[in-house]
Amino acid sequence: MIARALERMRVFHSPRYTADIGDHVMPIRKFDLVREAIVVSGLAVTVHEPAPVTDPDLLRVHSPEYVRAVATGEPKALAESQKFPWSSGLAGAVRHTNGGCVAALCAALEDGVAGNLASGFHHAHADHGEGFCTFNGLVVAAEHARAEGKIARALVVDLDLHYGNGTASLLASRPHLFQISLYGNWYKDNKAHRDVDHEAAPDTDNAWSAPIPNGTGGAGYLALVDEHVPRAIARSRPDVILYQAGADPYREDPYSPLDMGLEDLHARDARVFAMAKAAGVPVAWVLAGGYTKDISKVVAVHVNTARAALEVFGG
Ligand SMILES: [Zn+2]
Repeated sequence: MIARALERMRVFHSPRYTADIGDHVMPIRKFDLVREAIVVSGLAVTVHEPAPVTDPDLLRVHSPEYVRAVATGEPKALAESQKFPWSSGLAGAVRHTNGGCVAALCAALEDGVAGNLASGFHHAHADHGEGFCTFNGLVVAAEHARAEGKIARALVVDLDLHYGNGTASLLASRPHLFQISLYGNWYKDNKAHRDVDHEAAPDTDNAWSAPIPNGTGGAGYLALVDEHVPRAIARSRPDVILYQAGADPYREDPYSPLDMGLEDLHARDARVFAMAKAAGVPVAWVLAGGYTKDISKVVAVHVNTARAALEVFGG
């Protein structure tokens, strides 16, 4: 259990997180913008550059064929299954963003909280990518820490707008990992706002989910967090929480049917961090989706996640 207050929070970022993916709906440059904004904001963080994720780390979670395809670009359909144009730069970038997830989890185990300024990539499956997610950094990081004997169990709290289907599929063979995914796109009923072709899978022993009704605002969202996250913590008894802090529930996001403002998302983050702290569980947070046309709003959501972490865990 982490008792002492944190003076400065470690966050992980590398200029190598980004690759040239052309004019794409996924604003990959946000990783750099979030780093810049966090530094400019004067928040009590230190920025560290992570090592790229290793082959053994990836191969614990992903198939050799898929790892090879992303490394080489062949076969193209598999290398681009996440819907990015393949390049050697992209292959390197995804190794670094996943390395940041591993580094943030390990730092959180030491400090109580740490963040990675890149996504968790929750749509990535064992043998293919999906929805702009190449390798599943959440599961890769948890399995890395488990292989090193640092943790036995982990909980993913996925508050991206979209259902964490890749993580859920990877957890089917991993009873030591647990996920709660609160998603704002109703995959059965909400076709107008749906952007990925998967549906929320039925709940299993270790992958729970709940839809957030269209039009939900801050109070309703917090009520769902209060209902589901403590139950998931109690059920999974995690040694660490991986918090996927999506910016796409924001009301101006083109995919969002919710009514969440910047302050509502800040309150969401603070609530999750407070729950982790109250349970005595370290928490590693990562960015996730965010497609609002005015990218400064996406950046603001993510900077507020760092701010909320410091408000809860700082001195
Ligand atoms: Zn999303």
